[in-house]
Amino acid sequence: MLQYGGEIAVLLAAVEIAAASLNMLRGSMPIKVKTIFINIWMQALTVFAAYYAVSMIFGPIDRILARNEMASFVWIIASMAMALFLVNSVLVAIYTALKKEMSFWSVWSNNLASAIVLYLTGGVVGGIMIKALEKVDFYLLAAVIVFFGIVYLTFRRFVDDVKKTVEKAKAAERERAEQAEEHVNELQHYVAELERSSEALQESHENFRHAAYHDALTGLPNRNYFIDTLKELLHASRENTESNFAVLFLDLKSFKTINDSLGHSLGDRLIKNVAKRLEGLVREDDMVGRFSGDKFGIILSDLLSREEATAFADRLAKRLAEPYTLDGRQVFTSAKIGIAYGNSKYPEAEDILRDADIAMYYAKDNEENYVIFDQKMHIRAVTRLQLETDLRFAIERNEFELYYQPIISLETATLEGFEALVRWNHPQRGLVPPNEFIPISESTGLIIPMTVQILHSACSQVVKWQNKYGSARPLSVAVNLSGKHFGHPALVEQIKTVIAETGIDAASLKLELTESAVMDNAETAILMLKQIKETGVRISIDDFGTGYSSLSYLHRFPIDLLKVDRSFVSAMEENTENGEIVRTVIALAKALNLKVVAEGIESIHQFHQLRILGCEYGQGYLFSKPLPVADIERLLTDNTRWQNILPNTGMPVIPQNREISQLRLAQ
Ligand code: C2E
Ligand code: CA
Ligand code: CA
Repeated sequence: MLQYGGEIAVLLAAVEIAAASLNMLRGSMPIKVKTIFINIWMQALTVFAAYYAVSMIFGPIDRILARNEMASFVWIIASMAMALFLVNSVLVAIYTALKKEMSFWSVWSNNLASAIVLYLTGGVVGGIMIKALEKVDFYLLAAVIVFFGIVYLTFRRFVDDVKKTVEKAKAAERERAEQAEEHVNELQHYVAELERSSEALQESHENFRHAAYHDALTGLPNRNYFIDTLKELLHASRENTESNFAVLFLDLKSFKTINDSLGHSLGDRLIKNVAKRLEGLVREDDMVGRFSGDKFGIILSDLLSREEATAFADRLAKRLAEPYTLDGRQVFTSAKIGIAYGNSKYPEAEDILRDADIAMYYAKDNEENYVIFDQKMHIRAVTRLQLETDLRFAIERNEFELYYQPIISLETATLEGFEALVRWNHPQRGLVPPNEFIPISESTGLIIPMTVQILHSACSQVVKWQNKYGSARPLSVAVNLSGKHFGHPALVEQIKTVIAETGIDAASLKLELTESAVMDNAETAILMLKQIKETGVRISIDDFGTGYSSLSYLHRFPIDLLKVDRSFVSAMEENTENGEIVRTVIALAKALNLKVVAEGIESIHQFHQLRILGCEYGQGYLFSKPLPVADIERLLTDNTRWQNILPNTGMPVIPQNREISQLRLAQ
């Protein structure tokens, strides 16, 4: 205004406001177009009003300036500033008051009055600039401004560049941070994975450990674990002689038979049930272990007295003998228990277990529930070893002698044949009963050459008797065949050779096999039996009723005779389940077209009853004990030997047929 006059000033003011408004818009300030126009208009009006007011008061401005008076110059400046302030603030106040429906005064005094300082300062700066321009070359100033402008812009660029670089650096930093975080996450994932797999490893390690020390079927400690525990106890007993413990060795009766005839899964279940009963009986500090098959061990620790162990064994035997219900079927077993008291004199833990084992064999042999180990038993174990050695020579030296027990036709009370029963004439020991050496010969395999020898001498003996004493029906001979031999591939050939060499009529030879021997592997047994039958030899099932014969198999076995076990015959007079068995076996045999031999007939009463039941044959002390050859020959000359025991009433023989469905074999 001072430099170029009022019109230019109004225009510049309008342009400045327009530019400022546009700048605001560009900076994305919410400003309405209407407001922009109002602002331009108000600014222009303000400048125009100020110019007009000053011109009115002081006269034309250029003329006053031309006078070059400092006082008037200051006044003009002050007046211009005041005029600008008043017009502008009043206009804005009116506009705002109207718009916001407020009082003009409050808008002006609260928001605009203080702006006077700004206007006055602007006036002072404007004045100084005008005065400065008068003294300085305008072009030089323009050049300086341009120079500083360029410097400023360059600086701005530089600052922008720096800012951008910083931004980039920050972005890169952020990216790195993100990547780092990703890495950390991944790492954590790997660590977690590693932890998981190490846990799994730990678990499988523990599983392996568990498997190494436990029995898979029952989960009980196995032999290793048992021995380790025993070692610890032994160690402790050396330090503290007060500590008392005992080891019990258990073996289940007829487990093998149950397993073979009722199936392995049932056998397994029986073992599990036994394990549960055992665990239920011991105290927390005691240990139950399973060694193999049906063999268990128990450690009783902290015993107050030795009687405590025997009382426990007693309870144990009773509990295990109670029936087991498996698959809705009642199964029976019982345990034979050997007890060894632990003491610090034992050199090794295994020795205690061995002694308990030896005691268990004593319990078995003597039909006791439990037996306590005693040093004398060692001697027996050694004896057994000696017998084993001696048995090898017995075959070479022909130390075996056959005894023959007569088998009688019950209907006529006449001799039918014999069962050959082996005896061992031991050079030092004298006559050794078969129960003592047959198991040894079976475990050493000597049973095979031994049986061949027995077969040979029994057959040639019977041929001799047949020739010498000839009768209406040829005498027969029954030879016992071990289960161990039954599975042997050479058996059939051996039988054929014996028949050929002795010249016996094959029909006169009977082979006795126990139920368990054929049930062991029923399918192959059937094939084997068929081959034997083809030689013409007859087959008896021995000790029938004591095993777990599966009726479904029985009719498939090509057999000729059933031998009812002695225990059932002796129970006949009692009114018990066992007494009933003889009847059922006879009925079963009739249904299957088999002949029956009753074993162990000791009384006339048994003989009569069996006769009435229709049992064909019998053997037992009532007729004769097993006798050596010489005694049998005396007997063969006496034809009427047993006639006196026949009932003189001539009672008819009434076979009692029973429904097969009613059949119940021994438990
Ligand atoms: P086993 O085959 O059941 O033989 C019957 C056993 O009962 C025989 O015992 C016999 O003496 C006995 N005995 C017969 N009648 C009566 C009686 O009325 N009352 C009583 N209390 N007992 C009677 P032994 O001779 O001591 O034979 C025992 C077992 O040894 C036999 O039982 C058989 O399994 C086995 N054995 C005997 N000889 C041989 C053989 O040559 N080979 C094989 N593999 N085993 C044999
Ligand atoms: Ca027999
Ligand atoms: Ca028998």
